[in-house]
Amino acid sequence: MPEVVVVGAGIVGLSTAFHLAGLGVRDVTVVERRHIGAGASGKSGAIIRTHYSNEPETRLALEGLTFFRSFRERVGVDCRFDETGFLVFADPENHEALEANLGIQRSLGIPARIIGPEELRDIDPSVSVEDGAVIGYDPSAGVVDGMAACNAFATALHRLGVRIQLETTVTSIRHTGGRVTGVTTTAGDLDTDRVVIAPGGWAHALLRPLGFDLPMIPATSRIAVFRWPHDRDPRHPVAIDHRNGLWLRPIFGEHTLLGAERGVRREVEAPDHFDETIDQPYVELCREQLARRYPVMRHAVGRGGWTGLVMRSIDSRPIIGPFAGYEGLVGLVGDSGTSFKTAPAVGRALAELVTTGTSEFDITPFHASRFDGGGSWVDPTETSTAASISR
Ligand SMILES: Cc1cc2nc3c(=O)[nH]c(=O)nc-3n(C[C@H](O)[C@H](O)[C@H](O)COP(=O)(O)OP(=O)(O)OC[C@H]3O[C@@H](n4cnc5c(N)ncnc54)[C@H](O)[C@@H]3O)c2cc1C
Repeated sequence: MPEVVVVGAGIVGLSTAFHLAGLGVRDVTVVERRHIGAGASGKSGAIIRTHYSNEPETRLALEGLTFFRSFRERVGVDCRFDETGFLVFADPENHEALEANLGIQRSLGIPARIIGPEELRDIDPSVSVEDGAVIGYDPSAGVVDGMAACNAFATALHRLGVRIQLETTVTSIRHTGGRVTGVTTTAGDLDTDRVVIAPGGWAHALLRPLGFDLPMIPATSRIAVFRWPHDRDPRHPVAIDHRNGLWLRPIFGEHTLLGAERGVRREVEAPDHFDETIDQPYVELCREQLARRYPVMRHAVGRGGWTGLVMRSIDSRPIIGPFAGYEGLVGLVGDSGTSFKTAPAVGRALAELVTTGTSEFDITPFHASRFDGGGSWVDPTETSTAASISR
């Protein structure tokens, strides 16, 4: 009987198992329906920024940034953190809101600030702000190789004696008298009184039979990759552009990976059958939006792209914590396309929660109970940041 069963070998499940081992709990089984990184994690942009419109998310992201920066020392294998810096472009009318959000970062020691067009030219000479966008900048943010991070955790877990059972689906969570008793899988039953779920876009299949119909929906998140033309400057911070509805990062050396989100239909009926590819209209949309902010990229060569699956909650924030009425059951669901960067913090919080019943991180704002009575989480300053584009 494993001490803990973790459902899902994405970055959150793997991080949780890693932190459980760090707390001395090594009799852990990670159960994964396909393979490492089969969900959003393997498709992620893996931008590691701390720019949010509230303190709880900023704190989780800061812990993530700190962890990814020292990943090799902690995990034993590299995840290729690259400190690119982070730019955010906001509407001029959101100047104050942007300043307030940068202020949250500064209050936690993050060197984020508003910059002007002149300074921007030194940071990324290929950007145009002729539209009058207000510019926020954080030099400490960056990117990782998302699959390298997942694989690194998996390698470390093997070393630590944690089992990872691939190609096995958890079909139900068993319980009796308000307490978890195990899981049923396609390879048989596993008895345990502690289960952590990190099932990404497939969460409803596990939670609805337990009576949880949380306000979240599986949705696609698409990206396209473009090779730089000769005149794209190699200085290339990651960026979120709220004016043009896009986010982007450098990748694969001399390529830009971007997601254009405006006007793109996203809901997915059957998570097992979503299409992993992108179509030509999406490539054209990405190129057009990209060229608005980076005019030289009008002549960028398309190099394909892919579609991933996320679980979007109605307030675009993850649901983290215990599941009321089922002692021993905790997890992260409704990742909302923004939970790669926070996975080190969330994994630690879930590991602490399932072993001691409490966590050093205050994750109460993320509890599912925020939706009780039709509520949801809205920040007064989110117009310029996280709500319209997650990442
Ligand atoms: C295109 C794209 C770009 C993104 N960019 C960023 C970014 O720049 N920064 C950022 O922070 N976030 C980003 N995200 C979001 C981030 O990748 C996700 O929030 C994060 O990876 C979620 O991790 P997870 O482990 O919770 O879920 P997932 O990675 O989806 O993993 C869930 C796993 O559980 C398995 N599973 C599900 N149900 C079962 C079951 N019943 N039994 C067994 N296994 C099961 C699945 O097969 C899957 O492998 C992006 C996402 C996408 C798709």
